[in-house]
Amino acid sequence: MRIDLHAHSNVSDGTQTPATLLAAAAAARLDVLALTDHDSTDGWAEALVAARDHGVGLIPGMEISCKTARGVSVHLLCYLHDPFNAELLEEITKAKDARLTRAERMVERLAEDYPLNWDDVSAHVAPGATIGRPHIADALVAAGIVSDRNEAFANILTSHSRYFVSHYAPDPVLAVELVRAAGGVPVFAHPVASARGRIATPETFHDMIDAGLLGLEVDHRDNPAEGRAWLRKLAYDKGLFTTGSSDYHGTGKPNLLGENLTTPEALVQLVSQASGSKPYLP
Ligand code: AMP
Ligand code: FE
Ligand code: FE
Ligand code: ZN
Repeated sequence: MRIDLHAHSNVSDGTQTPATLLAAAAAARLDVLALTDHDSTDGWAEALVAARDHGVGLIPGMEISCKTARGVSVHLLCYLHDPFNAELLEEITKAKDARLTRAERMVERLAEDYPLNWDDVSAHVAPGATIGRPHIADALVAAGIVSDRNEAFANILTSHSRYFVSHYAPDPVLAVELVRAAGGVPVFAHPVASARGRIATPETFHDMIDAGLLGLEVDHRDNPAEGRAWLRKLAYDKGLFTTGSSDYHGTGKPNLLGENLTTPEALVQLVSQASGSKPYLP
């Protein structure tokens, strides 16, 4: 079984529609794919139709951007939650709206130094999609200022850049609680990805576990080997399951579908703890 539990479509910052993403999953010989767009479930319906067409299993999910009180960025994957749960929906809507204001402010700052305006950025955002720095990166590429998203993130768009603006994001403990209350399964995404910025303290891990965290994304290209070993021990000690996934973004990142995989045993644990929505498993 080839199971990949982390992928993005153009409902957030991936480059393919949900239907095209599922076609790519079939071409990559995946048996199961999870669609985990940032702060949105708007791709679920289209993905399900395509999953049926291609005979690929689908775990509907989402990736919630969170921030601790100390300002550490934490990404929380959640699977099979109720997409209509009012409390969770309210929180992600607040974050999505804040992302839009933040992107506008970043573009205002960038426009002082680069030939770039809001229309140039909007042109790369699918209608209603969750906007993020990758869309600004796409506009910088189109304007010939950088050659790809990665180059944009290497300097102009980093969190240390003078163009960077932060946005509202829920505390990860609150996010775990909301996901569980919505019948979903919360999994800490790329938890030790130190190249992305400061990582969560052990205290944050323990607070999230106490709040109901159920899994750790161990096999992800951004987790260094020592960190993975620490995560495996933590999972064992606390009875959490572990996952492996690609974090595919279409052509927006080098990550390839199926480059890391999750075991069928972990998927069984995940599905058995969910009550908010149904997986499609042909
Ligand atoms: P934002 O959500 O606006 O803070 O932007 C973060 C998003 O940018 C993450 O979801 C990543 O998928 C993406 N990202 C971060 N670093 C890179 C990179 N070097 N190349 C392409 N995408 C990146
Ligand atoms: Fe992303
Ligand atoms: Fe992430
Ligand atoms: Zn992701």
